[in-house]
Amino acid sequence: MNFSELHRELEEIGLNFEERNIEVEYFHSRNELINSVKNEISNYKTIGIGNSQTLKSLKISEIAIEMGKTVFDKTMANTTEEIKQLKKNALISDCYITSCNAFSRDGRIVNVDHSGNRVAAMTYGPERVLIIVGMNKLENTEKNAIKRALTVATPLNANRAKIDSPCSRNESCEGCNQSNRVCNYISIIRGQHYPGRMKLLIIKENLGF
Ligand code: SF4
Repeated sequence: MNFSELHRELEEIGLNFEERNIEVEYFHSRNELINSVKNEISNYKTIGIGNSQTLKSLKISEIAIEMGKTVFDKTMANTTEEIKQLKKNALISDCYITSCNAFSRDGRIVNVDHSGNRVAAMTYGPERVLIIVGMNKLENTEKNAIKRALTVATPLNANRAKIDSPCSRNESCEGCNQSNRVCNYISIIRGQHYPGRMKLLIIKENLGF
């Protein structure tokens, strides 16, 4: 794909999200993206973090802490009780930052969640929601985005979290019915009720899974 084709394609994807009240911005480099996130963070007191490999690799929690913000990141907890409390606090944070498992050209954002805290905060609560995502998570349609979330992202996330499920063992979803399932919640965001609440920050590289 040449540069002008790529530009047209990105413009079309952006319009598909913007029609659904979801802002979109593209970034060519991690530095550009981090500067934009810093700008956003500076407007808020409390920052909720939805655990993600993408955010970890960009050190988003550390950046927010350095900026003097109160950060609710469950991965910084020492006990199970602390994890629960941080997840609850993040639900009413001023600004929630996370990634997604897939997004589609037709304007959908898909996530598979184990305990539901991440999809809950993305859906309602925080005043501002920033979703940072690499181009590797782009699919053509909602159906393909769900497929990616279940068969690519979930097995890798299950493995990372050391959850014993068929997907973590075999690195693929076998549609199991076990109690310790990773995919308790599948969320499809098809738009935002409140304009100016949600923004997709797309970096033109492969990031996270
Ligand atoms: S149905 Fe089972 S194998 Fe498939 S993603 Fe969920 S937990 Fe993993």
